[in-house]
Amino acid sequence: MKAFTYQCASSAAQAAAVSAQPNTRIIAGGTNLLDLMKLEIETPVHLVDINRLDLARIEDTRDGGLRIGAMVRNSDLAADSRVRERYGVLSRALLAGASAQLRNKATTGGNLLQRTRCSYFYDITKPCNKRMPGSGCAALAGLNRMNAVLGGSDQCIAANPSDMSVAMRVLDARVETVDAAGKSRVIPIADFHRLPGTTPQIDTNLRPGELITAVTLPPPPPGRQIYRKIRDRASYAFALVSVAAVVDAVGSRIRSARIACGGLAPKPWRVAQAEAALTGASADTSSFDAATTAFLEGARGYGGNDFKIPLARRSISAVLTQITRT
Ligand code: SF4
Repeated sequence: MKAFTYQCASSAAQAAAVSAQPNTRIIAGGTNLLDLMKLEIETPVHLVDINRLDLARIEDTRDGGLRIGAMVRNSDLAADSRVRERYGVLSRALLAGASAQLRNKATTGGNLLQRTRCSYFYDITKPCNKRMPGSGCAALAGLNRMNAVLGGSDQCIAANPSDMSVAMRVLDARVETVDAAGKSRVIPIADFHRLPGTTPQIDTNLRPGELITAVTLPPPPPGRQIYRKIRDRASYAFALVSVAAVVDAVGSRIRSARIACGGLAPKPWRVAQAEAALTGASADTSSFDAATTAFLEGARGYGGNDFKIPLARRSISAVLTQITRT
């Protein structure tokens, strides 16, 4: 690990201001950053610690939603009674992620910012446009079992590894930030993560010197909530495919439906046409097929990850069957 200097931030705006300096990173739980530093994928010369800032509260909002501070630990968020009762999809997604030890350290803000687990990103002997722009992408013709089948580009097919973000996406969360001047901004979760395009090194639409302060959840949408994660082993593994669903059905009639998937794309994936195919439809294989076909429009495999497309189709159908069962 390269040597670095360290300071504790005294305010969110100060942390944002310092983080705008070259080769400076904010550290919260550190569960991803420290690994990246040990492997010298990230080589900051200065760290700004935000652990002492007052950003670890979960508060009710006036409209019946929740405001979750950026420093709320994943385990605390999953265990919060309001989250368990009203946002079960989020609690279950959090508990499906990482290990108990990691969830005790990992934070809400950090989870949104965690980097891909593409194996070539972590192997500094291999080309990787995300780690070193312009060097190439070893995954395109290499080991790509964990990589994306939707939303990638000819420069990068990394999948977003977060479970929490998939649930946040289906719940229409909003990310609150502050910049160096103390000015706040709200970013809808749909616009927070970026597709790789020609700039795969940039994962999110956060600006330099902008710090996540909270995530706000609107009031819970009507209907049942499910998070299902398919992975190579039962715990401590990233998703091959995950499905977050919120469906409101009366009898066999679907009144509204939301579906987001993880493991398939560089960002939590949600398709309006798929949800439209379910709204007002009967809960049967014909509407489920229409929804999964719309959801997977444009999907393509790269050899090792071809299996994800039929797996996603079956997983979404299975979740829809379960969630609409009377
Ligand atoms: Fe790097 Fe992205 Fe290619 Fe993986 S998929 S090797 S992260 S450029």
